[in-house]
Amino acid sequence: MRALVVEDEAQIAAEISAHLTQAGYVVETVADGEEAWSRAGTEDFDGIILDLGLPRLDGLSVVRQLRAAGVTTPILVLTARGTWTERVAGIDAGADDYLPKPFQPEELVARLGAIIRRSTGHTTPTLEAGPLRVDTRRMITTVNGAPVSLSLLEFRALRYLIHNKGRPVSQFELGEHVYGADQEPGSNALEVLIARLRKKIGGELIETQRGYGYLIRG
Ligand code: CA
Repeated sequence: MRALVVEDEAQIAAEISAHLTQAGYVVETVADGEEAWSRAGTEDFDGIILDLGLPRLDGLSVVRQLRAAGVTTPILVLTARGTWTERVAGIDAGADDYLPKPFQPEELVARLGAIIRRSTGHTTPTLEAGPLRVDTRRMITTVNGAPVSLSLLEFRALRYLIHNKGRPVSQFELGEHVYGADQEPGSNALEVLIARLRKKIGGELIETQRGYGYLIRG
C-alpha cells in the first residue's frame, strides 16, 4: 500500500511516516498543498493523509480539486482540535474521514486502513484467498492456519496483491506499491521477491501473468 502524507509540520510528518512505514506502507511525504494536488492528481496512491492548514494551497481546496478531477483516492483529513466546522467542511468537500489533532498515531493507522478497505469493498482487516489469510492490522499472515514469517517487502507485495485479488497487477504497479520513490530496486528484484514469497506461502497462490505481472485469484 502506498500512502501520501501531506503535512507542513516536519516533526508530525516524520512521526506519521514512521508509524505508517512500520505498518507496512510505502510512504511519500509532501509539505504544501500545491505539491499535494500535483502528486495526488497524477500518481497512484492507496490513501492520503491531509493536514488542512497548509501553505500555498489549503487542504480543503486540495480535497475539492481532487474530487472535481475525479480522483477517488480515500482521504483522511487532519483537523484542529475542537473545530467541528472544519470537520464538516472536510467531509462536505469529499474527505472520507477526519482525525482531530493531536492524535494517537495508532488511531491514524487504523483509520487510514479502514477507509482504504472500505474504498475497495473489503469490510474487515483480514483479507483471504483460498488457504491464505492476511491480517493487515496485526501484519500476521497464515496459510491453512499456520503462521508465515514475512519481511516488510514481502508483506507489502502480498498485501497489495491480495487487496486487489481477482485483478492482475502489473509489475510496474506492484513495484510502485512495494518500493518507495527513493528506492532503486534492480530490474529483477520484484521477481526475486515474488519467488521468496512463493517459497513461504506455497507456489500456486500467486500466478504469473506472462509479460505483465501477477495475480492472486479471488
Ligand atoms: Ca499545518
